[in-house]
Amino acid sequence: MKSIIAFLITVALVVVLSIVSTNMIKSKKEFVPDNVAVVVEKGMTVAEFAKANKLENPAMKKIFGLESKQDLQKQVESFGFDKEQLTKKVNQAMALTAEDNSKSWQKIFLKFVLWFAFLFTIMFMLIKKKINAKNRKYFYIAGFVIFGVIMGADPSPMGTVKDAIVLLGKKGVIFMPRLIAFCIFTALVIIANKFICSWGCQFGTLQDFILRLNRNDKDTDKGALPLYKPPFVVTNTVRVLFFIALCFVAFKFGHDITEEIDPFKIFKPQYISIFGGIFIGAMLIMSLFMYRPWCLFFCPFGLTGWLAEKISIFRIKVDYDKCISCESCEKACPSTVMSAILKRDKTIPDCFSCGVCINSCPTDAVSFSAGKRDKPPVDKFNK
Ligand code: SF4
Ligand code: SF4
Repeated sequence: MKSIIAFLITVALVVVLSIVSTNMIKSKKEFVPDNVAVVVEKGMTVAEFAKANKLENPAMKKIFGLESKQDLQKQVESFGFDKEQLTKKVNQAMALTAEDNSKSWQKIFLKFVLWFAFLFTIMFMLIKKKINAKNRKYFYIAGFVIFGVIMGADPSPMGTVKDAIVLLGKKGVIFMPRLIAFCIFTALVIIANKFICSWGCQFGTLQDFILRLNRNDKDTDKGALPLYKPPFVVTNTVRVLFFIALCFVAFKFGHDITEEIDPFKIFKPQYISIFGGIFIGAMLIMSLFMYRPWCLFFCPFGLTGWLAEKISIFRIKVDYDKCISCESCEKACPSTVMSAILKRDKTIPDCFSCGVCINSCPTDAVSFSAGKRDKPPVDKFNK
């Protein structure tokens, strides 16, 4: 009962505070404009073309590569584009300009600075084995409050992947700042196993915090409610199929299948539809009973991050000289990943670097450290 009340209070506070915050810190609306037909006539100058199609200077620069004011007097035909090419270029330029105009660059810069400071502090603490059941919860709260409730739903690790796919599918262009953000997030995954998801993602930390409401005091076992650990083959198959569907629908129909169900909208609740509300509510309720359902079943960055974490530098490792095969870490892990790490299975599921396995080991054999994982001695777990 305690967990359910805490869950309801958490969700209600996130929704209410996000409404307050989005009203106080107005962010610009993100959208990809629909394709338009281009107006072009014989002998038209670039300036006349801009006026006829209501195009602003940044878009004109992208279309014609204008260098000076004199270029505005050149004839459109002199650039050698046929009408189809021109239409494509105009629509791409309008999409990129809309992307650019929808971003609050100062806020984004500040968010990245905070992400770096926050994540590297936690990374240092995890290496020093200073993350425990109590401060873990506080860090998750800080994660979704700072990067979600206060700083908003965008940018997010997931957004960098799915928005890029949708824009590429719809308009055939890549918005460079988004690609840079994706590279930064992936670099963070590689530096420290999935760290941006673990501690920095707004929705990831919210799900992780909710799960901790249904854990024992030491955060090493389930709490009053049951806890399910779905097999990775199931969760990852669904996630891969969802990713394929996202790409297929974006490229074939120019539509974003996550539009309705995007769980990051919990940080801008005004935009949640009834169907979206039901889906997000289901994800949050499921978070009480299983580890990060959105991340493991659906998230496109969850999938690309899982691939990237194969080469992460800092990661959960086991010292088999100290390990007494008690499997406490495996039991304490909220998902199936510690079992796979401990026994060095061929496929290692997503590890969200929560550090619970470190705390649960009675012989201090588990660490968050740099380097490759050792293999357990033969028969270590077959006695
Ligand atoms: S996998 Fe989870 S934590 Fe990572 S970006 Fe997706 S929602 Fe966020
Ligand atoms: S193996 Fe499990 S318990 Fe250990 S850090 Fe990863 S997700 Fe957490």
